[in-house]
Amino acid sequence: MARRDMAHQSDDLAQAVRYLKLTLPEMSKREIPTTPENYSVWYEYTAGTNHDLKQSIDSLIKANTEFSDQVNEDLYQKFIGGGQQTAITEIRDSVRQVINDLLAQISAEGDGLGDYAKTLESFSEKVNDTIDSSAVNLLIGELLIETKKREEATHNLQSTLDTMAQEMTQLRQEVARLNDEASTDALTKVSNRRAYDIAIERAVSASKMNSTLLSVLILDIDHFKKFNDKFGHIVGDKVLRFVAAMLQKHVKGNDTVARFGGEEFAVILPETSYTDALSVAENARKRISAQVLSDSAENIKLGSVNVSIGVAQYRYGESPEEFIHRADKCLYQAKSNGRNRVVGEGDYEERKAPQQQTI
Ligand code: GH3
Ligand code: MG
Ligand code: MG
Repeated sequence: MARRDMAHQSDDLAQAVRYLKLTLPEMSKREIPTTPENYSVWYEYTAGTNHDLKQSIDSLIKANTEFSDQVNEDLYQKFIGGGQQTAITEIRDSVRQVINDLLAQISAEGDGLGDYAKTLESFSEKVNDTIDSSAVNLLIGELLIETKKREEATHNLQSTLDTMAQEMTQLRQEVARLNDEASTDALTKVSNRRAYDIAIERAVSASKMNSTLLSVLILDIDHFKKFNDKFGHIVGDKVLRFVAAMLQKHVKGNDTVARFGGEEFAVILPETSYTDALSVAENARKRISAQVLSDSAENIKLGSVNVSIGVAQYRYGESPEEFIHRADKCLYQAKSNGRNRVVGEGDYEERKAPQQQTI
């Protein structure tokens, strides 16, 4: 609750107490018994809020009328109304109920609203202590308004938070979808060049910062042009998807498989030594060439696909481009050494390809 509102409520209470203090002398001056009914009549008179009541009493005073029990009773019945006490008790109970409910809600909401809770508690006590009907009415009126306002505010806050949470979830999903789209190669569903650029930068930074090993593979499909020419681009696309899936299937979660361009892929292997990277590469090469492909849609046998792979390990301080360039040089070497093989930077010599497959 705003400090200003709290001050406002305290002002009203202080005012009510002031009227009550003024009421007593007025009543004793005219020897009016201090029953709750008379008290409420004369409280209204002192406060001056009930215009008709004030005018009536003023004319009675002017006419020197004695405030007999009958006159007092008439005034009460005319201006305040019977059954007032019962109504007050009822209102008091319901206010207390509202306050209690709200207190429970507020304490659930957290400490931030503690001040408001304290104000409500003290008002609740004051409602109990006040015996005068009009004063109680005033307090209850104010409290009800403030409490309802607070209740509405709490309710509104809750639904606003709910709506915001829903919108945030939707937004997050949308952002995730857009991010995925922006970083995935549409054909092969592995990382695209943009995602590769980010991944290699991150991997190099992590390797430098944590002094961990980092290796990379650059892979290119052998004689892919011939493959395309023979079976067409649609089948060529399927082969690209097959190679990408094979790579993705056999790397760890931390590794990044990316389509580097055309029929070329890069595999980033964080926390992987050169020797381990060589075996990852050799494994991939073997698995890919071991598959005899066929196109069920076209009902044709495609044979197997071979790949050449270059392998390099990151050297502290070099840029991602320098790092990749070394792997690329190895790939070039693998091609000129006869294809369908893995060449690492420490090994430019020809490795014997297990079995040359012609497609
Ligand atoms: P090498 O063994 O020297 O790598 O020979 P290559 O034929 O694989 O290499 P080259 O660079 O001569 O040809 C690459 C071919 O890859 C040419 C192009 O048609 C094909 N290619 C590149 N991107 C795609 C693609 O998205 N889909 C298909 N179907 N083919 C592609
Ligand atoms: Mg090629
Ligand atoms: Mg190529």
